[in-house]
Amino acid sequence: MTFLILGVDAATWKMIKPNLDELPSWKRLVEECKPGTVELKEDPLSPLIWCGMFSGMYYNEHGHKEFVDDGDIVGRDDLDVEFFWDELDMDVRALNVPFVVPPYSYNVDFEPVGYGLPTTEEEWNEELEKVTEKTKEVLREGPDVLVSVFTTLDRVQHFHWGEDMVLDWYKEVDERLGELLFDTGFLEDEDNRLILISDHGFCSFGEAKVQTLPEETEHGKLKGDHHEEAVVITKNVERSIVEPQDVYRSVMDVFG
Ligand SMILES: [Zn+2]
Repeated sequence: MTFLILGVDAATWKMIKPNLDELPSWKRLVEECKPGTVELKEDPLSPLIWCGMFSGMYYNEHGHKEFVDDGDIVGRDDLDVEFFWDELDMDVRALNVPFVVPPYSYNVDFEPVGYGLPTTEEEWNEELEKVTEKTKEVLREGPDVLVSVFTTLDRVQHFHWGEDMVLDWYKEVDERLGELLFDTGFLEDEDNRLILISDHGFCSFGEAKVQTLPEETEHGKLKGDHHEEAVVITKNVERSIVEPQDVYRSVMDVFG
């Protein structure tokens, strides 16, 4: 049995639900698993949310919200936080988890693409490819828990929210989800558990309650920013995931 937590940074129902006919893997997941929405009460900042998701702590406990603090890049060791992989005496692996840059891996040898901030189409493709291949490789080894995160959609949507090309990248992610969850037979194994989750949704830049990046960047003007509604889909997970910390609790329900 493997408990897989697959993160799709910035995935939003706004893009998925109206396009299910073009997103066959998402469609199957919605039909065959338990879809839901996480309404964030904390600020929709990726480091803050991913950190809470895997530590079970709230911001007032873990105190982490930015990749850079006072001009210094925040690393894993700067955080006074225990994640479930630190606490559990099991085979727990994590790869490309973006609560810090470059994203963090645990018991997996993985080098993030573009320092974890892929910016060109080439890098987006490379990340999808690399995360998929590594996730498949680790799944074959049968760990108790595996956390794996795609960051591509966050980057695409910051630069291109509202453009047709955003859907093209959801289709790319859809293909990878099909490879990972269906082609490998992962979801056919009744013992396996899945949480597929985003850390926040997306909206136009001006609509966002919290501005997570400056509008002008070295790569051009940003068109989108984070929104409080995140996506969640579960299979064989008893606890309802209503906030990011419930991911930690779900793992602890089984292994803690
Ligand atoms: Zn994010």
